[in-house]
Amino acid sequence: MAEIPSIAAFREDAAEFIATAVLSGGACPAYGAILPPNLHQHAMLWQRHCFDAGWAGVHWPTEYGGMGLTVDHNVVWHEECAKAEVAPYLNLQGLVLAGEAILRSGTDEQREYFLRATLSNEILWCQLFSEPGAGSDLAGLQTSAIRDGDYYILNGQKVWSSNAQFAQYGILMARTDSEQPKHKGITFFLLDMELAGLEVRPIKQMTGDSEFCEVFFTDVSLPAESVLGEVNGGWGVAMGVLQDERGGAGAAGVISLRKRLEAMVEGSGSVDSVKSDELTRILNRGNALQSLMERRGGDPLIAPVAKLMNSELGYDEAQLASSLQGAESMLNSKSTEDLLYSPGMRIAGGSSEIQRNIIGERILGLPREPQIDS
Ligand SMILES: Cc1cc2nc3c(=O)[nH]c(=O)nc-3n(C[C@H](O)[C@H](O)[C@H](O)COP(=O)(O)OP(=O)(O)OC[C@H]3O[C@@H](n4cnc5c(N)ncnc54)[C@H](O)[C@@H]3O)c2cc1C
Repeated sequence: MAEIPSIAAFREDAAEFIATAVLSGGACPAYGAILPPNLHQHAMLWQRHCFDAGWAGVHWPTEYGGMGLTVDHNVVWHEECAKAEVAPYLNLQGLVLAGEAILRSGTDEQREYFLRATLSNEILWCQLFSEPGAGSDLAGLQTSAIRDGDYYILNGQKVWSSNAQFAQYGILMARTDSEQPKHKGITFFLLDMELAGLEVRPIKQMTGDSEFCEVFFTDVSLPAESVLGEVNGGWGVAMGVLQDERGGAGAAGVISLRKRLEAMVEGSGSVDSVKSDELTRILNRGNALQSLMERRGGDPLIAPVAKLMNSELGYDEAQLASSLQGAESMLNSKSTEDLLYSPGMRIAGGSSEIQRNIIGERILGLPREPQIDS
């Protein structure tokens, strides 16, 4: 077995690999959790380049194309990417959500089939959880998957499915038993997006982009081996996915935040004392988030706190950037884009209100919200 490099040696090598890719134009600029359509091609090539050079899936096992290192090495990869303002992976939905779920709950065949292809960019994933009537109340989802011989017949609709227009596969939650209490009759599937009866319609956002879509299913025949984990045990698989989605904020995010704050100050000419105070507050909140993640980043309880701090920070940062820029930010600039994009981050992955509810109930021990159903 190859020797695991020290964190310091790995950092140096990662920085060198990234710097060389930046110089050659191969590295894709950073874009956050969701792959924007205008960077699709560049990001695909960058993911492939990392894979071919042995720099993909830092903490994934080598048998599935990963580097076989530790989660700490993976944090360093993210930090070095953030310093160079480069995307650390193709998209969160594949390289974090689907990938980690398959590592945790997949059969040997599923790991063999999906993981290497995800790292090499042959499979791009989307997340098919939310529905028009099930977002915050995710367990209320109505898309049905009814067993018929070796298949499940899928009917229903998903919405806000980021990157679905590009995806080859989706992680899907569907109701397989409507007789059971709502959290218990749900199964988690790995869905081939090419199946007949599936229609993807991009949604235009207020930024002008179409990063997410509606996805419709009409009598889609889904092979029974698409189930991930236990039949009717999908809620447990999904909770692991949501924890990965919400707990992802860390030191790398604060490196990017510092860079953006510096750029804000440079771009705004002079900063009065009120604005300087606001900049300092935002930076302090970023530093607090970084310290929290360094101390307790792996703790599942911390995921909603990280998600809340991160998305509120992004929103306040966009507001401040626009007020520093003045009228120009209402027209057509980077801060216009950020201003229009940032409210969505307080909703994606579970809204800020829902994170506050979870923190209240699970961390502070406050009484549970009244439930009208179970
Ligand atoms: C940019 C973006 C990308 C997304 N990507 C994906 C994706 O790839 N895949 C996917 O499946 N989904 C995705 N989503 C959907 C996202 O997970 C949902 O929008 C989110 O969970 C909220 O659900 P909802 O939109 O149905 O709002 P609702 O649940 O209807 O909530 C409406 C409002 O009521 C508040 N509210 C609801 N319940 C409570 C409560 N109990 N207590 C207090 N306040 C409450 C909410 O906070 C919100 O302000 C994305 C959303 C966005 C904005």
